[in-house]
Amino acid sequence: MSFNLDILLRDNIKNMEPYSSARDEFKGDATVFMDANENSFGSPISGNYNRYPDPLQLRLKEKLTKIKGVPESNIFLGNGSDEPIDLLFRAFCKPGVDNVILVPPTYGMYEVSANINDVETRKVPLSVDFQLNLEGIADQLDRHTKLIFICSPNNPTGNSINPLDIETLLVNFSGIVVVDEAYINYSTQASFTHQLVEFPNLVVLQTLSKAWGLAALRLGLAFASRDIIAVLNKIKPPYNINQATQEIVLAALDNVEQVNEWIKVTVHERRRLVERLSTSPGVLDIVPSDANFVLVRFERARQLYNHLVDRGIIVRDRSTVSGCENGLRLTVGTPSENDFLLKEIQTFYS
Ligand code: PMP
Repeated sequence: MSFNLDILLRDNIKNMEPYSSARDEFKGDATVFMDANENSFGSPISGNYNRYPDPLQLRLKEKLTKIKGVPESNIFLGNGSDEPIDLLFRAFCKPGVDNVILVPPTYGMYEVSANINDVETRKVPLSVDFQLNLEGIADQLDRHTKLIFICSPNNPTGNSINPLDIETLLVNFSGIVVVDEAYINYSTQASFTHQLVEFPNLVVLQTLSKAWGLAALRLGLAFASRDIIAVLNKIKPPYNINQATQEIVLAALDNVEQVNEWIKVTVHERRRLVERLSTSPGVLDIVPSDANFVLVRFERARQLYNHLVDRGIIVRDRSTVSGCENGLRLTVGTPSENDFLLKEIQTFYS
């Protein structure tokens, strides 16, 4: 593999000057801030919301470093992980020229982001057991292929992608391999964040929207080499993580025990759902899941979906997605929510 970030980077990104904000230019203690055209009187609610937030979220990163075991200089924080996904396209993919590899069925934002950025998507479907088709991927690569997106555990199938296959891509592909670990907390697989030193072309995405229960605050994490993180920082909107999010997440990160407890219960409930569904009439197949959801193939899936909606239960209908035929994606709920779901599935098929 000959990975060279300088060559991979778009020329306009390499050559541009980043925006320099007031908070970038002066860091330190002062009593009077007259550099950022803020309202010096205050904000109409308690909290210093009249001041711009830290553009690099250093306190947050300090705490995340302890939790994730990754140095601060290898962490980028985004407005959800959807933000780094978009920034990767903008940094590395020339619109109308470059392409990326997607392995459907997978998370939909990779394709949406590609389309927004006018970047060709080359699709190499996962195998019947939802693993990578390495030969198929190799056939699709050319010198304009810049990114490969792998979601593990994969959404919407829930299974983990074989880490040895991901390593094969990392070793042989001269572009960037993005490993989206949004659901890693529910898996027993090791995170790829421990392999950043080994693989300079690795970007790992995680999010606080799932196990951490903070979807509304919009905090996504990207882990990568210092050089890739520097590129993302160069092109991000200056204050992409707002002050309320920074403050609330900082406090929430102290509650790691609560989060671990929810993970334990969710994994237990996932097992229970699978066990119960495996003997339930109407169930055709259950995809083994390492996530907080299960993709289940049902007889008359669409009619079941409508029945559940009528009872006030909303699941995700994936039955028309190629590779997920007859599939409904069921997020693991609380024990009583799961009982309600199981009861209504039983009612539908009896
Ligand atoms: N990656 C995957 C695989 C997801 O399923 C999701 C959310 N559905 C995201 C990323 C986006 O997460 P965020 O809320 O951090 O933008």
